[in-house]
Amino acid sequence: MKNVKAAVCIKCGAEYAADDDTYTCKKCGGVLEIVYDYNYIKSRLSREKLAARKDFSIWRYLELLPVEEGSRGLLRVGWSPLYKTDSLGETIGLKNLYIKDDGLNPTSSLKDRASAIAVTRALHAGKDTVACSSTGNAASSLAGGAAAAGLKSVIFVPERAPQGKVTQLLIFGATVISVKGNYGETFRLSAEAIEKYGWYNRNAAINPYLSEGKKTVSLEIAEQLGFKAPDFVALSVGDGCTIAGVWKGFKDLYAVGLIDRLPRLVSVQASGCCPVNRAIEQNAPIKWMDENTLADSIAVGAPRNGDKALAAIRESGGITINVSDEEILAAMRLLGKSAGVFGEPAGATGTAGIVKAAALKIVPADAVVVSIVTGNGLKDVASAQKAAGIDSPAGGASNLLRIAPDMKLLTEEFAKRGIEPLGHNS
Ligand SMILES: *Cc1c(COP(=O)(O)O)cnc(C)c1O
Ligand SMILES: [Zn+2]
Repeated sequence: MKNVKAAVCIKCGAEYAADDDTYTCKKCGGVLEIVYDYNYIKSRLSREKLAARKDFSIWRYLELLPVEEGSRGLLRVGWSPLYKTDSLGETIGLKNLYIKDDGLNPTSSLKDRASAIAVTRALHAGKDTVACSSTGNAASSLAGGAAAAGLKSVIFVPERAPQGKVTQLLIFGATVISVKGNYGETFRLSAEAIEKYGWYNRNAAINPYLSEGKKTVSLEIAEQLGFKAPDFVALSVGDGCTIAGVWKGFKDLYAVGLIDRLPRLVSVQASGCCPVNRAIEQNAPIKWMDENTLADSIAVGAPRNGDKALAAIRESGGITINVSDEEILAAMRLLGKSAGVFGEPAGATGTAGIVKAAALKIVPADAVVVSIVTGNGLKDVASAQKAAGIDSPAGGASNLLRIAPDMKLLTEEFAKRGIEPLGHNS
């Protein structure tokens, strides 16, 4: 890879070759970051060259990715739509609000971007099996990407993992190890097994190549805005790999001269589980927290990439916003109703944060704001039903009518709601 210089420890600065075996610093245990040769990339990449490319996926940014030319995962990952959502923007008082719908990736979350890099590097390293421990989107994206590439996948889940997500894994042909224990124990067992069997390791906590995949969301946002960085980019934060990747993407673009300024990050967490935001607000190291939120994809009490996340938020002059589960459910309804976008709870959390930031005037009305919807609503139907109020007798879902097949009853119900037939004078 001529474009990659080294993998560098973010704590002590030790340098390693960008090979497949080194994930964490051998001296201090710190997380590594991939460092590029920006001069080389500048000579290969320009706005015009990008404009001429017909590959509408993450691979259009090959020069900025840590993979060898030639090897590639199969699924179409990336180039998700960026919608200018005037109606939603108007509702919450923002003139330039964009929604990046990353729930439209092949397995329906932003995690597909990271797994595409994992699968590609696994293929190149000659591995036949990829593995990780996760209960959610990291696992399903890995299993899907592996299936498409003809690789086997082994996924470790804690036994309380939701049936729906375990089912998605099995459909993708993964071997699923349901561990009688909590997430920490599951993670440890997976790490030991991966070491013992020599599988490709997609545990995002330690694999620095994964945030390189996630950064492609920023490369797309910038290109979709005509190579202008937005003023703010809002997204939900769990382990912290995603927000770190988002920041890396904009920094890379800036370093190669494709954008001329950087956005500010809006880190949105659930009030019931906000260790990263709390550390920023208190200017203190991350302390672990309980995991009290229905947004399962960001219910991370002990963030495994917290240091990178803190650095990203601080460097960008970022903002932290915490939102309640009720505000998350409200944002799901708002995104659906006024933008036609269906997010899972963690997917809508960034938008919930923007709603709050706009109301508090932390984000000015004329700012260019991008809110990333990180996962699709069909991932978690139970929460979506809660958001829709489907189970509440009458109140919540005021636009759900339960009725006998009788036109007279229907007419009465419509009349109550001010819906009148043709020719009616009121
Ligand atoms: C994983 C995930 C996040 C958070 O990403 P981290 O890297 O854990 O911070 C947010 N939303 C969805 C839908 C996710 O799957
Ligand atoms: Zn180190």
